[in-house]
Amino acid sequence: MTPAQPLLAIDRLSCAYAGQPAVRELSLALAPGELGCLLGPSGCGKTTLLRAIAGFHAPAAGALRLRGRDALPLPPEGRGLGFVFQDLALFPHLTVAGNVAFGLHRLPRAERAARVAETLAMIGLEGLGERYPHELSGGQQQRVALARSLAPRPDLLLLDEPFSSLDADLRGRLRDDLRALLKRLGIAALLVTHDQEEAFAFADTVGVMQAGRLLQWAPGFELYHRPATPFVASFVGEGRFLPATVLAGNRLGTALGELEFAAPQGWPVGSTVRVLLRPDDLRPTETGGIEAEVRSVAFRGAESLHTLVLPDGTSLTTLVPSHQQRAPGSRMRVRPDLAHVVVFAGDGCN
Ligand code: ATP
Repeated sequence: MTPAQPLLAIDRLSCAYAGQPAVRELSLALAPGELGCLLGPSGCGKTTLLRAIAGFHAPAAGALRLRGRDALPLPPEGRGLGFVFQDLALFPHLTVAGNVAFGLHRLPRAERAARVAETLAMIGLEGLGERYPHELSGGQQQRVALARSLAPRPDLLLLDEPFSSLDADLRGRLRDDLRALLKRLGIAALLVTHDQEEAFAFADTVGVMQAGRLLQWAPGFELYHRPATPFVASFVGEGRFLPATVLAGNRLGTALGELEFAAPQGWPVGSTVRVLLRPDDLRPTETGGIEAEVRSVAFRGAESLHTLVLPDGTSLTTLVPSHQQRAPGSRMRVRPDLAHVVVFAGDGCN
């Protein structure tokens, strides 16, 4: 493998169950040490993709290369990957140390013990090696499953909702610890989660899947601010679509008034488009803009999310520092920050 070569390269991979497609012509690449994450609604094929990479599911078509080599003919144990699935699958009759040593049979005995001790220390389980899984808390069991997958020092870890059974605080801590550890060891990972905040906090690159397809594979910032499709825009983060009519190459007619962009945008005059307005794209203003009614206010801590209604009934959202939050029923002026908004052609849902 050359430095420029991806660790994992998936090319137009398709998976099906009894002829029913679950993953459709999906392509992505993961570099050595890169942390990736897959987001998407339930049933969109995230677990199937992970199982195909791990070798537990045979794809119907496409290519899967690991370290530059075709991985499809290889059985799971020949792919050199670590994985943690939702149901942990710890061996109840083995101690923590026994569980963590499980994949280390090729190491000489002394080295194996040292590796187990080192891994337990790295993951915050020192002193617990002689306990059995049932003698541990849920968070500790989760750490054992991670330690077991990390002990052989794979170069790629596949993680299917490994934190889902934990409470929010523990979940956040384990996620941050794992991210730091993987970065330190240079281990790449592909994490499946339902939780956007987790995806943004953990991953360098986040993918959004819908009905077996990967719609976008990009850093979280880009997914949020430059979503490739309306589905990605509405699945990731909050925001509303403002219907608009193209008046000229750089001007749109909307319920917020005429929006004039600095440069022509290439939309056909007279066509219908939708302007994605994230809460942070709409700014409160003293003058200009348009007056809206505050419909509801959701306190978020530092900021409060205000849902506004324009005179024509269009609903939009904006963030206001919570010290300056308005009362429901009051009126406030807002204007969009056109430097950051994204415009989609058409008025359908996808
Ligand atoms: P979730 O977020 O709910 O775990 P997911 O995105 O991981 O969902 P998959 O579990 O990969 O989705 O499922 C993708 C599609 O394949 C779904 O329509 C699902 O019903 C179907 N499917 C998954 N496993 C099987 C199976 N063993 N047999 C038949 N169909 C399956």
